[in-house]
Amino acid sequence: MVFACTLFSSSKGNCTYVRSGRDEFLIDAGVSAKRICDALANVGGDIKKISAIFITHEHTDHIKGLAVISKKYGIPVYAPYLCARYIKSAFPEVAPFLCENNPGNTVELLDTVITAYATPHDSQGSVCFRITTPNGVIGYATDIGYASEQVWEALSGADSVVVESNHDLELLENGPYPRALKNRILSDYGHLSNCDCGTLLCRLVHSGVKRIVLAHLSEENNRPPLALAAARGTLMGSGIRVGDDVILRVAPPDGICEIMNIND
Ligand SMILES: [Zn+2]
Ligand SMILES: [Zn+2]
Repeated sequence: MVFACTLFSSSKGNCTYVRSGRDEFLIDAGVSAKRICDALANVGGDIKKISAIFITHEHTDHIKGLAVISKKYGIPVYAPYLCARYIKSAFPEVAPFLCENNPGNTVELLDTVITAYATPHDSQGSVCFRITTPNGVIGYATDIGYASEQVWEALSGADSVVVESNHDLELLENGPYPRALKNRILSDYGHLSNCDCGTLLCRLVHSGVKRIVLAHLSEENNRPPLALAAARGTLMGSGIRVGDDVILRVAPPDGICEIMNIND
């Protein structure tokens, strides 16, 4: 069986739960430990059953709850080398539980294989994941400046994908952010726009992807209907029937969005 869902997803905090066969793990822990525990309980999970936390990178919206979770529950934390080095110095309580997980590395749990791929992002070290479960493959990529070859490798041909749809270009351009921050977000090491996400999604659906979750929306520079409309418009424009050929959803900032749910 596989049940995977986002628990929190936005520029304010990210955490995803995966139950795959005998494995239960998290991707990122970017809100408080208490909120993660409560959200897990809401989907029938339990932080005490989590056997690993896979960290994409060290930005606060991905690691905020990590120190308290480590102190209380001592769960192994997989992170790329430079990201792990940063976490170790900023949150020494996490140090005993850190496992290096660099791009190209594969972690085998009991029933699940997780491979890390490099992502283009302005952090010390950042990765996305290809997760092979007993019931199919999940691709997971947020915080990506553009859809690089490695990102493509992580996501292509997966059954379900979680992809960043960070900002609407007009909202970002006309919004309150200082020019330097706007440029950072727009750069190849920033975040994926709704528009670029749509282009990537078309390629992904042609590679076999059947279910898409739009994730990590900016609270300032995006709106769920805008992200959905952009993705839907680009997919429909290339002849893909949304709802028939592919299921398209947007992850709420606080609340679950199903990525995969197969009972057998
Ligand atoms: Zn982020
Ligand atoms: Zn980031």
